[in-house]
Amino acid sequence: MKNTELLMDKLRSLYFELASTPLEQSDANMLCRVAECICKVLPVSYSGFYLFNEWQREYELCISDSLIREVPLKEHRLSENVMMGEEVNHQIILEKQVTLLHILPEEGPKAILCIEQEFPTPVEELAILKTETEKLISLLQLDGRRMRRNHAYLFELTSQLLSLTSQKKILSEIVQGLRKLYPELAYNLLLSQDTELEAELPVKTIEYSDDVIKRVSTLAFISGEIQIEEQLDKTGCFLYAPLVGKQGVYGVLQVISDKGMYIPEKEINFISQIASTAGKAIENVTLYEKSNHLVSDLKLINEATHKLNSNLEMKEIINLVRDQVMDVCHASEVGFIYYNGDNEERFDVLTGSTTFFNTNPGRRFAEYLKDHTDCKGEPLLKGDFDRIDRFPYRSIIAIPMSHSDTVHGIIAILHEQPYFFSFNKFKLIQSLIQHSTLALTNTVLKDKLKKAVKTDFLTKLYSRNYLEEEIIAHMATGEMGTLILFDIDDFKSINDTYGHHIGDKVLIQVADLVKSIVNNRDLAARWGGEELAVYAPTITINEGVQIAGLIRSQVEKHTNPSVTLSCGVSSWEHTVTDTVSELFIRADKALYEAKNNGKNSVVRYVK
Ligand code: GH3
Ligand code: MG
Ligand code: MG
Repeated sequence: MKNTELLMDKLRSLYFELASTPLEQSDANMLCRVAECICKVLPVSYSGFYLFNEWQREYELCISDSLIREVPLKEHRLSENVMMGEEVNHQIILEKQVTLLHILPEEGPKAILCIEQEFPTPVEELAILKTETEKLISLLQLDGRRMRRNHAYLFELTSQLLSLTSQKKILSEIVQGLRKLYPELAYNLLLSQDTELEAELPVKTIEYSDDVIKRVSTLAFISGEIQIEEQLDKTGCFLYAPLVGKQGVYGVLQVISDKGMYIPEKEINFISQIASTAGKAIENVTLYEKSNHLVSDLKLINEATHKLNSNLEMKEIINLVRDQVMDVCHASEVGFIYYNGDNEERFDVLTGSTTFFNTNPGRRFAEYLKDHTDCKGEPLLKGDFDRIDRFPYRSIIAIPMSHSDTVHGIIAILHEQPYFFSFNKFKLIQSLIQHSTLALTNTVLKDKLKKAVKTDFLTKLYSRNYLEEEIIAHMATGEMGTLILFDIDDFKSINDTYGHHIGDKVLIQVADLVKSIVNNRDLAARWGGEELAVYAPTITINEGVQIAGLIRSQVEKHTNPSVTLSCGVSSWEHTVTDTVSELFIRADKALYEAKNNGKNSVVRYVK
């Protein structure tokens, strides 16, 4: 008993000395110094430690220059489950002279103490030796240095990552850092498809498909929790540390240990801390980028809406939308396809569309879109379009122009490269077009209305209003012009004899004959009831009389039931002051004369 107490005191004082003068040495060296203390206290011929290596999962002999004694055991490495023979209170006797003692400190790595002695040390003394050594090793914080280094790195990394402004930089920072800290491990970044890939980063696309859903990497991504996959042949392991932020998981860091090494739990925790620090930094960057995008998207839409509300013409609106679409997504072609219920061609390619849409393949594509999306009216984004033979564009965005449940047409946006348009661009274009549709369809309707006002519904000749406007405009700038007025003779009797319906048909026959005789520059209009007019901007009155004569004779011959025309012709010249109404009155006077002269004739106005 006295001996034991003495031993305890001696050992404690030596250990105290060791603990109070910590030296910056390797763990193995420190343990050798502990072994030296043991030699001083106990009657042992050898004392040494086997320190547990968590990466290899085995005990390794600690060797120091100061310990020159021969090692009693042949092996310098002991397996984790070393069979140590008969076990008595943690003391295992291998041979008579050699004792192995498990040292399991509260903190720090476990070890095996090996002592060689002539006579077996009493069990009580071994128990003291074990407890005191365990306390000392806890105090010495053997693996503290590595952890301190790791924590210093983590601290530095955190402050650095949070100041970075791109995901690429964050990822390359952590990969570089990890390669420095654990050069023996290999790394991959498993990211979703949306991420822009960087050549020098070990980036792989994360797979979500059903057949691989059970894969550990996917599990880490979905659960946001670290996953470890040990190799079946025990040659190493895979670690999947999710890059987790507060709002989501931004990828998975895959750590591969394939040289027969295990990753110790402490290091796993550390790597997972790094991964989640990266996740938070990526989240910051992503949120910042997203909010920037949103602000600029809103600005763009606001600007567009503002312009659209400023009463633009159809052409201006289409050009505005086209230019904005081009700006946003750098498209090769933009087409405005307007559905036309009463037109046999079923759609118009609006002016302002890029040239491709007026070619045959372009019209075929518009046809395809109309047939495939009109009933649903759903926006379409495709990156691998191959439905039409020899069609040069692979990326397609097609957004219907619809409001109040009616699809008025479709805007098609094309690019040759596959997967050229990102989902974000697609969304932005969609909202841009939604905001423009009302203004766009309104101007298209207004344009149609204008055309309708210009044309007479029955004869498809120009309206009287339009004719008058055109003559006014021409009188302001031109040199001369001739006006011919026609009135069908005894038209009342046609109506009376054949009915109003046939009367209409004859009126159309006369109009068609007039159209076929006058040339492109001449304007043929319906002046009123059964009165028509032709304005020829560049001809003399004599030439006008000839044209009128031709029309008169053709009408007489080619109408059925046959009718005749009376014509009055008048003209103007820039040398004389004149007005449109004067010009009309003069033609009307000549026409009146023709009627008085027995109808079916042409009279030229003379002063
Ligand atoms: P006149 O030789 O003196 O011109 O004899 P008219 O019978 O043609 O007489 P007037 O020019 O005074 O009458 C025009 C008639 O043409 C009156 C109207 O019933 C008929 N008319 C005018 N517009 C149309 C139309 O759009 N369709 C049909 N079917 N008849 C019309
Ligand atoms: Mg008349
Ligand atoms: Mg008449």
